[in-house]
Amino acid sequence: MSAKLLEGKPLALKIKEEIKKEVAQLKAKSGQRPVLAGVQIGDNPAAEVYFKSQIKCAAELDIEYRHHKLSQEIPQDKFFSFLDSLNSDKDTSAVFIQMPLPGHIDSRLIPRHISPFKDAEGMHPENLGKLFFGRAKFIPCTANSVMELLRSTGVNLRGKEAVVVGHSEIVGKPLSLLLLEQFATTTVCHIATGERGLTQEHIKRAEVLVVAVGRAGLVKGEWIKEGAIVVDVGINRVNERIVGDIEFEEASKRASWITPVPGGVGPLTVTMLMRNVVEAAKLQL
Ligand code: NAP
Repeated sequence: MSAKLLEGKPLALKIKEEIKKEVAQLKAKSGQRPVLAGVQIGDNPAAEVYFKSQIKCAAELDIEYRHHKLSQEIPQDKFFSFLDSLNSDKDTSAVFIQMPLPGHIDSRLIPRHISPFKDAEGMHPENLGKLFFGRAKFIPCTANSVMELLRSTGVNLRGKEAVVVGHSEIVGKPLSLLLLEQFATTTVCHIATGERGLTQEHIKRAEVLVVAVGRAGLVKGEWIKEGAIVVDVGINRVNERIVGDIEFEEASKRASWITPVPGGVGPLTVTMLMRNVVEAAKLQL
């Protein structure tokens, strides 16, 4: 089998058209555009790239972007007060905070310092609780991008053997809930699965495989089940090239669908962020 490419860009374009319509409706009702506050602490070249893509995407969708760059030395309590001011600012629809934060700020506390109604990344405990119950308004962006890609194949996930490799809060864990919601039989592999040498065994029976670890070549192409749908979330820089976690060439001979890296999940995540911004603006209206 030779896999079809599961590309993020065309899908992102389609979703952006839907978002544009929603923004136009919101503007007609409220006279205002949705506003996303993007918060950065200190300088970070990787963050600059991400902000640029957010600013570009927001402009395309007629969403106002307010970029707040704070000093690297801002004390934690001052930072949280700043977030409170965004939470109570009636013009701000949603808030995004760029990670990583300087060491003196406890990043585990961040999600609960953003209003659950302005939660662009869907990481507030209240929103994660709603995700658990299948009633989420805001879905974590990367996990949501993976689900959009899977949906675009037209394959019904019900009863499918789905394997997620990686159990981070932002990708693997929310994704496992979203797959369960679609009645996929979902297995989550993590570091301890790897320690026991069992990851390969799980992957070999996966009809749907999503890998989000951040280790180039972690998944061998020969492990992929014939006909599987394969989504590689990983981003790794190897010899000046960006690659995923899966051996692409070999895997694409066996999969039915496979995401390229770059060009798969990546182009969708900012669009999913903007979808959450519009959702927030609707809630506030
Ligand atoms: P992360 O927080 O570092 O999580 C990685 C996960 O992989 C952890 O759950 C870790 O388990 C697990 N893991 C580590 N070694 C493993 C192994 N040998 N076998 C199985 N699981 C293993 O990273 P993340 O934020 O989820 O991101 C994962 C990758 O996706 C990164 O490359 C990141 O750059 C990429 N990413 C891409 C996008 C995009 O838009 N395309 C968005 C987000 C992330 P423990 O915690 O137990 O060690």
